[in-house]
Amino acid sequence: MEQWPIGVFTSVDAGLGVHLDVAQELKIPTVQVHAPHHENRTELAAQDFLNRCEKAGIKVTAVFGGFEGESYADIPTTVKTVGLVPEASRASRVAEMKEISDFARSLQCDTVALHIGFVPEDRDSAEYKSLIEATQDLLDHIKGNGQQLNLETGQETADHLLDFIEDVGRDNLFINFDPANMILYGTGDPIAALKKVSKFVRSVHCKDGVWAAEGKRGQEFGSEVPLGQGDVGMENYLRTLKEIGYTGPLTIEREIAHDRVRQKADIGEAVSLLTELKQKILG
Ligand code: MG
Repeated sequence: MEQWPIGVFTSVDAGLGVHLDVAQELKIPTVQVHAPHHENRTELAAQDFLNRCEKAGIKVTAVFGGFEGESYADIPTTVKTVGLVPEASRASRVAEMKEISDFARSLQCDTVALHIGFVPEDRDSAEYKSLIEATQDLLDHIKGNGQQLNLETGQETADHLLDFIEDVGRDNLFINFDPANMILYGTGDPIAALKKVSKFVRSVHCKDGVWAAEGKRGQEFGSEVPLGQGDVGMENYLRTLKEIGYTGPLTIEREIAHDRVRQKADIGEAVSLLTELKQKILG
């Protein structure tokens, strides 16, 4: 595959991504997919989706897990509801994530991904240790499917994410780097963070955002904006990806599923911007 093929985050029936026909219309060659709901995670549904992708010349590069009960309404709600961190739902979500890994295998995809949630700060705490064990158990199942797990960035600082990956100690745990999330969650400068975690970056999002007001960072979300209009600095971001040797897909994410018309228009603009920057940087 060419270096930095454009990609877009899509949904089968859940999540905030665009539908596959948008990728097809915009001639985007790769997609990440938000896993469908349980009842649609069948061999038949996988084959159907795969056939549609093959017909359109689209490759599925990652399958993202997401769960009932998750809410990104604000940062405190995200802490309480998202990923494998909340203990009450952890066992069922790990089981579900294993099922999503099996579904991804049916899509012939070697990468699953998720927001694991806000990893507890204290590395010696019981809650941190139990999260490590659950993650190891999940990774062993994923490994059995010949896959890796890429953690979405944003909810941890770069340093804490590195600690966590080291403490999990498995060779199939990597990172899906989302520069906008570092800004939206107020967890650090995205370019500095990218350099820090570079050796684990196996997939990326191209998304943009502006910081929350000074003094509110980390307590209130910043705002997601169309690519190129926020504080990430897209040219610098792509130049840094080149510098760290990342050659994989540039997957556009625009999380405004409530406005499909604007979402599609913004993604079209993002494709133009990335195509232009690729030309400029790669020659
Ligand atoms: Mg993202």
